[in-house]
Amino acid sequence: MTYQVASQTPPAVASTAPAQDFSPAGDGPQLSIVIPVFNEEDNVDRLYARLLDTLPALGRSFEILFIDDGSSDGSYARLAGIAAADRRVKVVRFVRNFGQTAALVAGIDHAAGQVIVPMDADLQNDPGDIGLLLAKLDEGYDVVSGWRKDRKDELVTRLIPSWMANKLISVISGVRLHDYGCSLKAYRRAVIKDVRLYGEMHRFVPIYATWMGARVAEIAVNHQERRFGRSKYGISRTFKVVLDLVTVKFLSEYATKPIYLFGQAGFWSFAAAFLSFAWMVVLKYGYHTTFIETPLPVLSAMFFMLGVQFILMGLLAEIQMRTYHESQGKRIYMVRTTINIEGGSGGEHR
Ligand code: UDP
Ligand code: MG
Repeated sequence: MTYQVASQTPPAVASTAPAQDFSPAGDGPQLSIVIPVFNEEDNVDRLYARLLDTLPALGRSFEILFIDDGSSDGSYARLAGIAAADRRVKVVRFVRNFGQTAALVAGIDHAAGQVIVPMDADLQNDPGDIGLLLAKLDEGYDVVSGWRKDRKDELVTRLIPSWMANKLISVISGVRLHDYGCSLKAYRRAVIKDVRLYGEMHRFVPIYATWMGARVAEIAVNHQERRFGRSKYGISRTFKVVLDLVTVKFLSEYATKPIYLFGQAGFWSFAAAFLSFAWMVVLKYGYHTTFIETPLPVLSAMFFMLGVQFILMGLLAEIQMRTYHESQGKRIYMVRTTINIEGGSGGEHR
């Protein structure tokens, strides 16, 4: 499988303004594990233990970042306990639940590692695979994406929709992966640091990365059934993913020139309006049909108005696009507290 670099395509959601970077420059650890946590009180201690089983053996300095995404159970207390005993463990706590993507972005913002590895907190990902991801990265890739080849999730609500969504994303984006949704991935810092993510878009990072010229690989990883706590997602996520895909496609092709897309639709509408009008005139004067006998007058009026609307929408989108590119970036989350993170965001604040 090759991942072609679409060099002419601009990075879609990559901001022109640098992302807010809380991490100390230069002397950070080699590896940052980023773990969004939302009501996973029975999982976090076990996960930490498993990470400690594998990470030291990799021979790289590391930090583990937990992002408590507004948990209402005892997750934060557990995390605080772990962080109190181990300075390599850092915690960011949100004021409320902002969602997995926001948690991931917060983790990336605070990560100091040269390589960033996100994973789930629910023990479904296997920390033992981190070494494999890093080995693949060392072969010269910038992003290595996990593929849950033998995925242990609900068949009808998760596996089948996910299979269809993955096919669709592959075809539309042109970046061929089997499993975009797998959280366990490894990124070189430079690839992930400036990417802005919204909605369910963390799964599209390999696509942005490819557009930016990164080399992307995929390797099979283990996947376990969830034993503690509950999944936060159901079938409705598939629809969100497909809508996000529309956004990604739109941004990649027209983010900097929305008027081209809307304008084109506008011109086709004007053409349809003109044809309806011309046909109407022909019918009236060539065949003596009255305007009442044909829907053409209504159609031509409708297409004309639609054309005007499309052009105006294109202009509005142009203004929006300029605001987006030229204004200062805003964060998509608010941090309540951070632990073991120096500079800027430590302590209690909101
Ligand atoms: N998660 C989160 N915020 C949310 C939903 C989920 O931080 O609003 C975390 C969750 O704790 C887990 C990961 O994202 O670590 C994946 O969630 P889940 O296991 O529910 O997803 P699934 O594996 O079922 O796709
Ligand atoms: Mg899970």
